[in-house]
Amino acid sequence: MADATRPPIVEADYVVAGAGSAGCALAARLSEDPSTNVLLLEAGGKDSNPWIHVPVGYFKTMHDPRTDWCYRTEPEPSLNGRSLDWPRGKVLGGSSSINGLLYVRGQPRDFDHWRQLGNAGWSFEDVLPYFIKAEDQERGADEWHGAGGPLGVSDMRVRRDVCDAFIAGAEEIGIPRNDDINGANQEGAGYFQLTMRKGFRCSTAAGYLRPARRRPNLRIVTGAHVHRLCFEGRRAVGVRYAIGAEVHEARARAEVLLCAGAIGSPQILQLSGVGPADLLARHGIEPVHDLPGVGGNLQDHLQLRAVYKCTRPTLNDEVNHPLRKMLIGIEYILKRSGPMSMGASQVYAFARTRPELETPDVQFHFQPLSADKPGEGLHRFSAFTSSVCQLRPESRGRVRIKHPDPYAYPAIEPNYLATALDRETAVAGLRMTRAIAGTRAMRPFVEEELLPGPEARTDEELLEAARGIAETIYHPVGTCAMGQGPNAVVDERLRVHGIGGLRVVDASVMPAITSGNTNAPTIMIAEKAADMVRADAARG
Ligand SMILES: Cc1cc2nc3c(=O)[nH]c(=O)nc-3n(C[C@H](O)[C@H](O)[C@H](O)COP(=O)(O)OP(=O)(O)OC[C@H]3O[C@@H](n4cnc5c(N)ncnc54)[C@H](O)[C@@H]3O)c2cc1C
Repeated sequence: MADATRPPIVEADYVVAGAGSAGCALAARLSEDPSTNVLLLEAGGKDSNPWIHVPVGYFKTMHDPRTDWCYRTEPEPSLNGRSLDWPRGKVLGGSSSINGLLYVRGQPRDFDHWRQLGNAGWSFEDVLPYFIKAEDQERGADEWHGAGGPLGVSDMRVRRDVCDAFIAGAEEIGIPRNDDINGANQEGAGYFQLTMRKGFRCSTAAGYLRPARRRPNLRIVTGAHVHRLCFEGRRAVGVRYAIGAEVHEARARAEVLLCAGAIGSPQILQLSGVGPADLLARHGIEPVHDLPGVGGNLQDHLQLRAVYKCTRPTLNDEVNHPLRKMLIGIEYILKRSGPMSMGASQVYAFARTRPELETPDVQFHFQPLSADKPGEGLHRFSAFTSSVCQLRPESRGRVRIKHPDPYAYPAIEPNYLATALDRETAVAGLRMTRAIAGTRAMRPFVEEELLPGPEARTDEELLEAARGIAETIYHPVGTCAMGQGPNAVVDERLRVHGIGGLRVVDASVMPAITSGNTNAPTIMIAEKAADMVRADAARG
């Protein structure tokens, strides 16, 4: 007779927890084999909100609790005690459904560094085939790029004089023009490419899951909040999740694949008794395995947004003018181009703040618009924004549960600007911003520096200003780091140390943050994980 106290149980070979950038790609790849069945659980809803699919729609979906977890950090001592908004996608596609669409892989050195940390199989040479496999590059395939993959990658369909001037200004100070930062060399300035296909956002839900969703061996459940993992001894055998008030259990015949992202994955592990022993004890959680690194090693890119009043109209003026705003809508409807097809930023520059460096250590995101905060209404005056972030910060933060309740948000402590190098690079980045703004190409556009403001002159004053204006650029990674040391959480095949039947596959496994935006490398991780899961299953 059925036990009425036990939650209803479903079974699959693979239970994938979290349908974000990595989870959708992984579930789609694993279900290509019709003899394997996959259950994909996502706390958020379906990606039916039309703004998800219009590139510029992140202005609407970010900070909306129907599509965004709307996390906030703890007050950051180094940022004058400010708590920062930390958006994360809560919908099919996860953060790839609400992100800025910028397609950036990082530097070959990033992956060679992962390999050098002891992670066999993760050198650039090893991972390049997975970037290529994922890609459907609008410019066609070559030795660096793939065509025909699930992830549409397209050129920016918006050009503006002030953007061209920024690229020319960067050239004037020695940053070369580079139209492909995902090719042989990252250094340089140009227009971003976007994860977009035919003018629509290409999230992993759109690129990977949509073509796979009718497969009889793939079951996708939305509104399914994973509470914790279920164990038999030290083997993960499933997950417990809730749809509204109803609790369910999913059993994994082969493996549980945790893809809940850099906040969700360490949170679920800690709630399940896998994490730092003292933290688990403090919250009365029965320990399964003392793994001190779970939630540690948090890394992010901190953006310093410089805002300049512009002598000529910018997108601020276009968007704040009802008729021009209507024309923007019409251009998108008719041609899928113009400002509605825009990513979060239009132009990049990857540069070295010190000539002795081998590769760029800062990235600029340039926008022909300005707002008090990213994702908020545009200023009612003509202005542009040049944000700069350090690519490989040394500071490390952490994510730790505050409560055993799976719905309580964990404490997010990024610990920005904690090292001398990070502080020096912040100052050097702001100085470089001013150098570009002062070039012959840019001078005709610059009326006045609003942020950080001309009164900040010395290094100390610039650092102080940075503490006041800094915001996340939404790239948390590293909280379930791959490696072998005492703080590593997964091994080089992404298996959780000390636990059977469980892998983590998402941005949290990056041992060190990549030198650029983190969506493409996360999808690469999922592509590689799919091959490893299949290969390990075949070995038995
Ligand atoms: C606003 C914003 C802008 C960004 N802009 C860019 C950009 O322009 N370019 C770029 O390369 N990168 C960008 N990023 C970063 C990039 O999108 C992320 O690094 C990447 O999406 C991370 O993928 P992931 O699979 O690790 O996590 P996510 O994509 O966040 O997926 C995690 C999934 O797990 C689900 N989940 C979490 N907890 C649970 C639970 N308990 N139960 C069930 N499901 C759960 C979440 O709802 C989510 O769907 C941006 C991110 C944000 C938020």
